[in-house]
Amino acid sequence: MCLICDRIQSAKNGTNSYVIKEFKHSFFVIGDHQYFKGYSQLILKEHVQDITDLDENIQREYMEEVFQAGKLLKRIFNPVRINYSCLGNFVPHVHFHLFPRYDEDLKLDETKNPWHNMDEFKKYTLGEEEAKTLAKKIALSGN
Ligand SMILES: [Zn+2]
Repeated sequence: MCLICDRIQSAKNGTNSYVIKEFKHSFFVIGDHQYFKGYSQLILKEHVQDITDLDENIQREYMEEVFQAGKLLKRIFNPVRINYSCLGNFVPHVHFHLFPRYDEDLKLDETKNPWHNMDEFKKYTLGEEEAKTLAKKIALSGN
């Protein structure tokens, strides 16, 4: 089974500590590292490789969920902007990475590409309990 399908399944049965919020077509989850404070993902419930494989209405509704997740992160973490990344090369199941970006890191990173810092990510790995606490905090702030 694919890594994201696995995460969707645990989100559906309530054993995924990273879930912030469930949308109609996706789960909004806190990222497994916090190199960028508030880093999270929006994982599509359905296993498709490319966003254009979806029915057009679902494409639109899923993008709306991406925007809602972005707004929630902006409200809570107050970043300068959010970098949205939808690649699917490593795990070919549609998901968006949401990287909140801040003045400090934008000044440090000349490329301004969050993936440039990938080697640092593992130093900021979240434990399951930390993830649960942070996901709950974000979810509650969104109400
Ligand atoms: Zn999948």
